[in-house]
Amino acid sequence: MKLKKIKYLWLDGYDTPNIRSKTKYVEIEGDVDIDAIPEWGFDGSSTMQAEGKNSDCILKPVKLYRNAMKIFDLYPNCCNHIVLCEVMNPDGTPNESNTRFRLRELSEKYEDSEMWFGIEQEYVIMDSKTERPCGWPEKGFPLPQGRYYCGVGGNVVQLRKLIEEHAGICIQTGIPISGTNAEVMLAQWEYQIGPSSPLSVCDDLWVARYLLESVAEYRGPYYITLDPKPIKGDWNGSGAHINFSTKHMREESDVDYINNVIKELEKTHKEHILEYGLGNEDRLTGNHETQHIDEFSSGNSDRGASIRIPMSTAKESKGYLEDRRPASNMDPYRAVAMIVETIGDV
Ligand code: ADP
Ligand code: MN
Ligand code: MN
Ligand code: MN
Repeated sequence: MKLKKIKYLWLDGYDTPNIRSKTKYVEIEGDVDIDAIPEWGFDGSSTMQAEGKNSDCILKPVKLYRNAMKIFDLYPNCCNHIVLCEVMNPDGTPNESNTRFRLRELSEKYEDSEMWFGIEQEYVIMDSKTERPCGWPEKGFPLPQGRYYCGVGGNVVQLRKLIEEHAGICIQTGIPISGTNAEVMLAQWEYQIGPSSPLSVCDDLWVARYLLESVAEYRGPYYITLDPKPIKGDWNGSGAHINFSTKHMREESDVDYINNVIKELEKTHKEHILEYGLGNEDRLTGNHETQHIDEFSSGNSDRGASIRIPMSTAKESKGYLEDRRPASNMDPYRAVAMIVETIGDV
């Protein structure tokens, strides 16, 4: 078949970026290669990426995925391929919203550090009809938190089928999902991606977010909220912990190095928070396994700290660290770029 159905994905210009997509039918013989996929345009004035008077923006294909939704026969008319794009201005410069461009530069600069990142994406599955988390009563609340985290059974988890389907599709699409679990609030879940290189983990997270929305649309009508505090009160918010390491941290037992990395993170705490997602102050309250947004702390196995030193890292003085501050709705290009910049010269 010559005609290939290709889904172009990009991020819009909102403060919390949304995924946008449109479909192009392209005649390509045989296997599809990224070089065979043409650039495309769109109306940037409808996505906060351009003025109305001069609204053309360019979609520059940067990473190609074979869409495994096809294999899973979830939706027979879905696209053969997904292509992630950077948004460029008509003169070829990166659009102001193009946060990937900056991470690309930084990860090249610090390539020799061989940094790895693993991201834990938490989210809540919402019922489109009731606009409530799935399985929640239409009025009032389900049983208080306690049994939901890593829970088993239909009374404590909702839509396991959907999350397993998503993980399977991601893996077949080439996205390295390393785990999934039910989270502390009913209808809240998590998947982990990586560890992989800075750019790769961020690209893959955006496409995993897109695939999750797609599965939710087709299996629902459901949708996903990445709101860091979807339900106020005594309910956990959603985060996106970023685990990171450098080659040195993974291979050499060096407690001074680890302490210096943490010191740099402490010095730059305020700048990091600015890159870690909007509405995070509602989540980082100092309760519900978080440190307060205005405080910085680190600790061995401490889930109430900004930076958790995993037990194995503390024991061997090597391994990786976990930054627990990023919110579920963070733009990974911005959050990871901040970490790369802060630790790159340690
Ligand atoms: P927890 O819920 O206990 O915080 P998870 O098992 O959910 O931990 O997530 C651990 C994350 O750490 C995964 O995303 C994994 O990819 C990542 N990770 C593991 N080893 C490394 C490493 N050496 N460098 C960076 N990230 C790592
Ligand atoms: Mn986790
Ligand atoms: Mn979690
Ligand atoms: Mn974690």
